[in-house]
Amino acid sequence: MAVPARRTSKTKKRLRRTNYKLQVPGMTACPNCGELRQAHHVCSSCGYYGDKEVINVK
Ligand SMILES: [Zn+2]
Repeated sequence: MAVPARRTSKTKKRLRRTNYKLQVPGMTACPNCGELRQAHHVCSSCGYYGDKEVINVK
């Protein structure tokens, strides 16, 4: 139910916001090198996508 902003107490607002957390969406560990990479993207540290090397990273 909609409640006017000034009717929402500091406690209620803060309690609701305790569940908000910082997160990096869709990040998974690369199966080849273990670095964090974005899901469905080529790994930027080893250049692998799936089990194939797609780009050459020195
Ligand atoms: Zn990798």
